[in-house]
Amino acid sequence: MAKPYDHDNIFAKILRDEIPCKRVYEDPFALAFHDINPQAPVHVLVIPKAPYVSLDDFLAEATDPQITGFFRAVGKVSRALGLAESEGGQGFRALANAGGDAHQDVPHLHVHLFGGKPLGPMLAKQPESPK
Ligand code: AMP
Repeated sequence: MAKPYDHDNIFAKILRDEIPCKRVYEDPFALAFHDINPQAPVHVLVIPKAPYVSLDDFLAEATDPQITGFFRAVGKVSRALGLAESEGGQGFRALANAGGDAHQDVPHLHVHLFGGKPLGPMLAKQPESPK
């Protein structure tokens, strides 16, 4: 079972308008805003409006309309940002960190959308571990 949702996490505060964000998209299911510490020329976060800790929690507990609405929003944002090849863009990467091994820092599900340059390999190359 997922850990309990922390209603004081930073994205919950953004959803309640208690702290600002650079909003790029909003609908009944999702909010998208620019990452405060961008790792690519385009780095936007898409979050569900409902309180889910992680992708694991969301896919286990959310309703079908919430899941459909959220992932439709991810698609709309990638196209609205001009990243999708179907819109003449050069493509993008969508990434959701879930839990400790993935270094998820904020315990409210968020999908990172990266684009605007060639993004390199999917995972950072690690130094060879000793055999
Ligand atoms: P993760 O490690 O997947 O949990 O990513 C959390 C992301 O949230 C990081 O890329 C942070 O730069 C970003 N972030 C943290 N606080 C804010 C904020 N107030 N507004 C926008 N992005 C934020």
